Amino acid sequence: MNPRWNGQFSRFHLVAKAGDRSRSVVRVRGVEIGGDDFVVMAGPCAVESEDQLLRTAESVAKAGARLLRGGAYKPRSSPYSFQGLGEEGLRLLSKARKETGLAIVTEVMSEEDVDLIAEYADVMQVGTRSMENYALLEALGHCGRPVLLKRGMTATLEELLCSAQIVATAGNPEIILCERGIRTFETATRNTLDISAVPVLKTVSHLPVIVDPSHAAGVRSLVPVLARAATVVGADGLLVEVHPHPETALSDGDQSLNFREFREMMLDLEPYLALRQEARPLGPQLVAAGGHD
Ligand code: PEP
Ligand code: MN
Repeated sequence: MNPRWNGQFSRFHLVAKAGDRSRSVVRVRGVEIGGDDFVVMAGPCAVESEDQLLRTAESVAKAGARLLRGGAYKPRSSPYSFQGLGEEGLRLLSKARKETGLAIVTEVMSEEDVDLIAEYADVMQVGTRSMENYALLEALGHCGRPVLLKRGMTATLEELLCSAQIVATAGNPEIILCERGIRTFETATRNTLDISAVPVLKTVSHLPVIVDPSHAAGVRSLVPVLARAATVVGADGLLVEVHPHPETALSDGDQSLNFREFREMMLDLEPYLALRQEARPLGPQLVAAGGHD
């Protein structure tokens, strides 16, 4: 256990855990993230069409997802990739919410889009490429919506918490942290899921922490097993990519589950979620060990 934890993060006073302060719970349309429930957010990488989105929303809701994820504005590494449907995508997300009751999480890439996206979204996602976009983080400080802050692919946990502190200082304490894999020398997976980020973040911060196994793995066969890992290390939920036909998806098809695979993943997680109820005391032990080494 790294004794530096005892002071390293304390300057981020709005997001760091101090003494007995209870954990933050982010409430979104009746769903509590960071409380007792394990909250799964699922849906396509990109909103492609009404049919694609509504079918996905119905299927993931039936399987137990509580929020619908879908990108209307897509940050792509290549200028030749599908860039998203923009405002039309937002309208489709809002239609899917109306039909299924699922809350909506969608990405915002620029401070100029914050007001528009906040009109449609329940949770504002900040992607890995934007984690250090200061103007965006500041604008999210007064957007009136919770922020799902993804870890930059080359960012340390300290840098992630620094970005969270910027949002909180700007006026918005409703923040969910997301571990989505980091760049390492390994090429067998798209990124390397830093599984220890979950217990570390939960030890040093009071914010909810979720895991995105899809962008970590880059291949769908690994998604369910990484999701299992997330449950047993104490994550508060998952962000998972699901598509009716992953092989024809306009983005991230290789890492997207189809409906059956998502249902099976949700069933597979049940015993691990039960196990974690018994393993609860582990959290405080981690803190204590950090204090004495
Ligand atoms: C996404 O969630 O589809 C996405 C682009 O994620 P990330 O920013 O983690 O790459
Ligand atoms: Mn994606």
